[in-house]
Amino acid sequence: MSTCIFCRIVEGSIPAKLVRQDELSLAFEDINPQAPTHILVIPKRHIRSVQELDEKDAGLLGHLILACKEIAKERGLAESGYRVVTNVGSYGGQTVFHLHFHLLGGRHMTWPPG
Ligand code: AMP
Ligand code: ZN
Repeated sequence: MSTCIFCRIVEGSIPAKLVRQDELSLAFEDINPQAPTHILVIPKRHIRSVQELDEKDAGLLGHLILACKEIAKERGLAESGYRVVTNVGSYGGQTVFHLHFHLLGGRHMTWPPG
């Protein structure tokens, strides 16, 4: 069994509120939501972060971003707007070291982030 919490969600060995999945990706509700909509979109394959990606992952990345877009549309966020963000490493604020995109919406986001 994996020690990575998101791999364990992929395996189904810990529960998550699934939003959608396909052969490459999984989307589920963040356990500690920072906005009315806060969904995590992850590759099923373990990749530590953006820093670990290479050229062969370009298609997968497009797939993940398009999943964010589709979910945003389903959740009625397309008009109001939303944020897609991925944290990388310590200064980036990453706490789970399995690549994930946060899809945040339903409130007005501020900039710069904290
Ligand atoms: P990051 O800080 O960018 O690595 O984001 C990790 C995110 O994973 C945080 O927003 C956490 O709330 C979320 N998270 C951690 N464990 C779980 C879990 N078991 N189910 C859903 N979301 C989780
Ligand atoms: Zn993992």
